Amino acid sequence: FGAGGGYGEQEGYSEERNSARRVADHYSARSNQTLEERENSPIIYLKKLNNWIKSVLVQLYARPGDCVLDLACGKGGDLIKWDKAKVGYYVGVDIAEGSIKDCMTRYNGDSDQQRRKKFSFPARLICADCYETRLDEYLCEDAPFDICSCQFAIHYSWSTEARARQALANISALLRPGGTFIGTMPDANVIIKRLRETEGMEFGNSVYSITFGEEYTEKKFPASRPFGIKYKFHLEDAVDCPEWVVPFHLFKLLAEEYDLELVLMKNFHEFVHEYMQRPEFLDLMRRLGPLGDGRSGQSTLSQDEWEASYLYLAFVLRKRGPPPSQ
Ligand code: SAM
Repeated sequence: FGAGGGYGEQEGYSEERNSARRVADHYSARSNQTLEERENSPIIYLKKLNNWIKSVLVQLYARPGDCVLDLACGKGGDLIKWDKAKVGYYVGVDIAEGSIKDCMTRYNGDSDQQRRKKFSFPARLICADCYETRLDEYLCEDAPFDICSCQFAIHYSWSTEARARQALANISALLRPGGTFIGTMPDANVIIKRLRETEGMEFGNSVYSITFGEEYTEKKFPASRPFGIKYKFHLEDAVDCPEWVVPFHLFKLLAEEYDLELVLMKNFHEFVHEYMQRPEFLDLMRRLGPLGDGRSGQSTLSQDEWEASYLYLAFVLRKRGPPPSQ
């Protein structure tokens, strides 16, 4: 990972672009669920748990008035979290046209899902490939940002070294010194461990499956080729597309090259155990409902959903340098 040094690309340019397109088409095609569809989802409690984790990250790291960059913002599921944090400005970017449209609808407050007051912050929504486009050229008038968030999506940049670098270069260029980068992504340690424990090339349970191609039959992943390690991810009622393994120690090293220093990394199980200790987050957990509250006979996360949540980790990085004086 030295400057100028680099790993060879593992996929041809066009194949890799096709993969990005497949991911975009997959998310674009997923229409906004009605409240009823959402409540009947087989992974409703997993979704709630994911929302709790993202809310905790936002509450821990966002400050009132912050300028927010939400990379791979999807349908704007986090807009309310940013509103609660009283941020001052929001820019959302996503590759999927359909998701950006849904995000706009949600922001404007006229979807079925969201008959609520308008958001208190101005927002800009952009459809772009965050891992290929130089976003600083688009966003020079909006930057610098105080906080950048990339939830359940940075692993889509790990198909090639060039894309992983462009993702981190964008984040670094757009964050102010001292600014924060928060995110969630699959935990490669857990995924590789599960693969090695399983007999074949596929593992999972009733809510998810992960399938590696025959090229990985040996279940060995040489350190010299850490990009482009593809698997097919299926999550009931949510995801069905190619994803890429992100060895976290290499993510940390690559991020350092872009002046982004690791502050926190926790597997979701550890994250839940740790932040449930704090009364304000326990209270939020009770209100969101992923683990139930033991009262009112409310149901809770299934064992399979809890296992699926073990596939993920949360991270926080900080852009080097002193924050600008107020
Ligand atoms: N961040 C949102 C959330 O937490 O609800 C959406 C997460 S969804 C699992 C992954 C998102 O990443 C999708 O909206 C997808 O379109 C987006 N995405 C994937 N590759 C991308 C890319 N190259 N550039 C921008 N967005 C991308």
